[in-house]
Amino acid sequence: MPTKTFDVIVVGTGAGGGTAMKILCEAGLSVCAINSGPRIDPSKDYKLHRQVYDLKYRGYGNPLRFAGKAHQEPYSVEESEYSEGSDIFEHDVAYSNEPGTDWYWKRCKATGGKANFWGRSSARHGDIDYKAADLDGFGENWPVDYAEIAPWFTKAERYMGVASTVQNRPSNPDGEYLPPMSWRCIDYIIQKGAEKIGVPYLPDRCAQLTKAHNGHPACHYCGNCSRGCDVGAFFSPTWFTIPEAEATKNLTLLTNALVRSVLVDEAGMARGVAYVDRTTKREIEVYAKVVVLAASCVETAHIMLNSKSRHWPTGIANSSGHLGKNLCDHLYGCPGYGYLPQLLGQPATPDNIADSTVAWMPRWQNLKNPREEKFIRGYSMYMGGGCGEFPGHYSQLEGFGSEFKRNIKRYYPTPVGALIQAPSLPSETNYVDIDPEKKDIFGIPQLRFHFRWGQNELLMWEHSKQVMIDLFKAMGAEMWGADDEPNRPGTSLHETGVCRLGNDPKTSVTNKWAQTHDVKNLYICDASIFPNPTDKTTTMPIVAYTMRTCDSLLNNFKQGLHKRA
Ligand SMILES: Cc1cc2nc3c(=O)[nH]c(=O)nc-3n(C[C@H](O)[C@H](O)[C@H](O)COP(=O)(O)OP(=O)(O)OC[C@H]3O[C@@H](n4cnc5c(N)ncnc54)[C@H](O)[C@@H]3O)c2cc1C
Ligand code: SF4
Repeated sequence: MPTKTFDVIVVGTGAGGGTAMKILCEAGLSVCAINSGPRIDPSKDYKLHRQVYDLKYRGYGNPLRFAGKAHQEPYSVEESEYSEGSDIFEHDVAYSNEPGTDWYWKRCKATGGKANFWGRSSARHGDIDYKAADLDGFGENWPVDYAEIAPWFTKAERYMGVASTVQNRPSNPDGEYLPPMSWRCIDYIIQKGAEKIGVPYLPDRCAQLTKAHNGHPACHYCGNCSRGCDVGAFFSPTWFTIPEAEATKNLTLLTNALVRSVLVDEAGMARGVAYVDRTTKREIEVYAKVVVLAASCVETAHIMLNSKSRHWPTGIANSSGHLGKNLCDHLYGCPGYGYLPQLLGQPATPDNIADSTVAWMPRWQNLKNPREEKFIRGYSMYMGGGCGEFPGHYSQLEGFGSEFKRNIKRYYPTPVGALIQAPSLPSETNYVDIDPEKKDIFGIPQLRFHFRWGQNELLMWEHSKQVMIDLFKAMGAEMWGADDEPNRPGTSLHETGVCRLGNDPKTSVTNKWAQTHDVKNLYICDASIFPNPTDKTTTMPIVAYTMRTCDSLLNNFKQGLHKRA
């Protein structure tokens, strides 16, 4: 049991926590990083470069693998037979959904968190996001503007390595980029079609190394990214922040340590955390002068809501009553998929070069007039297709035997489909709280979700379906269909809002530096501080805001607000 007091405890070692511990360790502070699951080992845990026919269950995994687990649902994309047996994903800690809510909470408990397997799309927020309330009258502006955050985006991009081009889009400020990824054949066809209907189709901002960067090798386009990169050619804490923090010798890393609450002193300030050691099931306390929570959005709120004391009867730093509130997410779903007849029978090319998005459709709606469409704000879209590793289009074709196989091959380069990324708006009815009755197997009260898609994002969903009909026509493509419903809430893994930052302590949990208004030595470094998701992804902004928060935290040490241990 560690008895020493640290300068800082960082809870979580993902994009946010990993960045925080690297910066704080490099500044000479003693840091105890606490991670709920085991240490990931890329050589054992990234099971890439295997074909599904080499796997016993053809990639789907042993159907009995969750027997006896508290949370039995498999996680799509990132969890499959490729990661089976590695104890990487959270299935011990259950959560609840209130009736009518169907939140899908996918958690990676290993060190590095979800960024071991992420999609790497990395756009900047802009003033169109930060000042949206001024533009359309809904909600409140963010307490920051683009000019203030831009240098941190630059710092994050320089560190992570983001490939893209300068595009001069009103919704998407440009940054500092590595050369873009080469396009696939389908990208040129999609771009031509998109041009005809007035929709931009441009290289995505992708945190994947198109050339060697900061000591990390260039990508060799094997296309296995969502199973983890065995050479570290995209930003992940496993290859970037964690080894750099360790190299300082200022890091103590505790694994399999599930934090249940933040401990407070006589004044109600943070003095450490209590965690459950998964292996012994014993509860242990560890102390520090400052606590940084980076357990990933809703889990950070879960820990804070469970941190009740006489000072904080409804959860630590919750004098506003906004802790756990304002839960937002990206609505995901496929508004159209089909095939490009002009590519039938063409030779196969490795189109899964990045196993992800090479190009995207950045927001193009409501740019000149914020109320031009039936909905406010806007959404972005990603297009996938071509020759993937697995010919998923087989289910669209009829037949059997060798004729069927020939047909699958004939269609192999042709499939094309879309993914919408539409932000929900903060709503009083969307939030998390503590389930009054249920506890997990470690005796920790469970988190409970209350969430439904709102009218605004559902209007975006309908809009995107029409865009797909128009685009398919413009590309000369045939449509096979579209999802009837959007994906379940939680699918995108871009949830925000539950500890939102703001200038007013009555309506926000943290100040604009992500320091909680109430507890001056408690900071937050994940997407829970973002008041809403915008139409952009969260990870690069998490890294940028964490860099900025750590700068302010270090300054507070220098100014004497925090004392060294
Ligand atoms: C397949 C996939 C595709 C994605 N695509 C993109 C994309 O293209 N662009 C993008 O921006 N984002 C994408 N994301 C989301 C992105 O991965 C997350 O936004 C980001 O990794 C979140 O980082 P985080 O540090 O906040 O949380 P996490 O990565 O979840 O890390 C949280 C850490 O905290 C630890 N922890 C949790 N609870 C506790 C506790 N109680 N006690 C102690 N430790 C705890 C966990 O072990 C974990 O290490 C994708 C994710 C996946 C899985
Ligand atoms: S495509 Fe590139 S980044 Fe992805 S796993 Fe392969 S080498 Fe790594």
